[in-house]
Amino acid sequence: MLEIKDVSVRYGVIEAIKRVSFEVNEGEIVTLIGANGAGKTTILKTISGLLRSSNGSITFKGRNITKADARTIVKAGISHVPEGRHVFGGMSVKENLDMGAFLRKDSKAIEEDLDRIFRSFPVLKERLNQDAATLSGGEQQMLAMGRSLLSSPDLILLDEPSMGLAPLFIQEIFNIIEEVNKRGTTVLLVEQNANVALEIADRGYVFETGKIVAAGTGKELLASDEVQKAYLGG
Ligand code: ATP
Repeated sequence: MLEIKDVSVRYGVIEAIKRVSFEVNEGEIVTLIGANGAGKTTILKTISGLLRSSNGSITFKGRNITKADARTIVKAGISHVPEGRHVFGGMSVKENLDMGAFLRKDSKAIEEDLDRIFRSFPVLKERLNQDAATLSGGEQQMLAMGRSLLSSPDLILLDEPSMGLAPLFIQEIFNIIEEVNKRGTTVLLVEQNANVALEIADRGYVFETGKIVAAGTGKELLASDEVQKAYLGG
């Protein structure tokens, strides 16, 4: 579904991603793990058109999106939930959700999607008219995911969804990610919380200073001594 081939990304003279290749198949949960600064956020931003690669190609559903702009990429079916959530403060939960459907015109399908999102995140329905800025961290993460799902993506990019959340909320967010995936959305997940991410992932890639240094199924990476020592505190 998504193919990253030989992609490099630079910030001025710094090459943050060095000829990286990986793929995400339809229906999978794939996770990218690795230390701070390894380049995980950079690759997600490059996929969603917020940054440009200096080399290589990105193909989504057979279409070359390497040079496409962010709006075109959302329309093609990729939605990005950024690190730190970025919900719109000063706007209600409902207004934030409406932003997610901005590029859609199929109002009946939007209503159905909204109903499904409220089933996954009942708290959003309870707080529909509340200012998004006053939600807790976990609730903001749910809002950011709900807003993203309202664009009806085939592929959702999640950057550190567990960041700053209490353990109970982390488990809940991961349950919801699995649920969203079971309903048909392919997931590319960046996580510091590598153990939890690998448990729900079909496959994972380990990033180190802009390169992929290990790859395997979630189970294989969890069982790998090297990966345990370097990234999982094992
Ligand atoms: P984290 O989990 O800390 O966000 P990460 O794996 O997502 O880490 P990136 O944020 O992608 O890593 O950063 C990769 C490298 O690029 C780092 O060395 C970082 O310092 C550098 N970098 C990131 N953003 C910029 C920027 N805007 N300008 C210059 N360098 C940057």
